[in-house]
Amino acid sequence: MSIGRFVFLSIVVASLAAAMAVWRGHLEVPRQWNPWAPLDLRDAPNLLTGHKLRRLQQDRELCLSVLETAEMRFTPMPDIAPEPRCLLENTVRIERSSAQFSAPFRATCHLAAAYALFERHGLQPAAHEVFGQSVARIDHFGSFACRTIARSNRLSQHATANAFDIAGFRLEDGTRITVARDWQGEGDAARFLRRVRDEACQVFNITLGPDYNQAHHDHFHVDMGGGRLCR
Ligand SMILES: [Zn+2]
Repeated sequence: MSIGRFVFLSIVVASLAAAMAVWRGHLEVPRQWNPWAPLDLRDAPNLLTGHKLRRLQQDRELCLSVLETAEMRFTPMPDIAPEPRCLLENTVRIERSSAQFSAPFRATCHLAAAYALFERHGLQPAAHEVFGQSVARIDHFGSFACRTIARSNRLSQHATANAFDIAGFRLEDGTRITVARDWQGEGDAARFLRRVRDEACQVFNITLGPDYNQAHHDHFHVDMGGGRLCR
């Protein structure tokens, strides 16, 4: 056996042994680095977060218990199909979080988990860095709409409440920031919004803002559908 091959095999065997030890509980690793530990929304996102979020999609009970780790008031909702093509499955109604919302909204449980990560680890730190204060209120255009994507016949992620449209923010001192008015420019508000868009891209599968197209000139669309897009 060549040396290169021996080293490679040794690494594979050692990795498998370590993974086995973690899985059987013989080796303690911090929960955020243990792929079998459920997501805790208080932990900053890392390389395993995408994998842990995907697991929530399949597991209703797990997802609801994970949401309990967020600073969020929510109610689990029964599955319904307001129209046959638009099934609301494994959704919650979000009433408030560390901030208020312009209105309560319905979201799939794993979108709610992603939102909680974004708010705690992306949005609020950005507000503190740029303005020295928290976001007190999120103004939004809603999450559920039984419709297709504009100029296409594919169903939108909004059709299953798996998408959320964020229009702006109000800070603790009452300052209003809107995507429509403040995206362009060089001031603090524009800098904050660009940072918020970048933070959203870290957590949501799809993040679309004014840079994407005219249809998004006044909001950030975030969703947990398939694929990956950040514009
Ligand atoms: Zn949208």
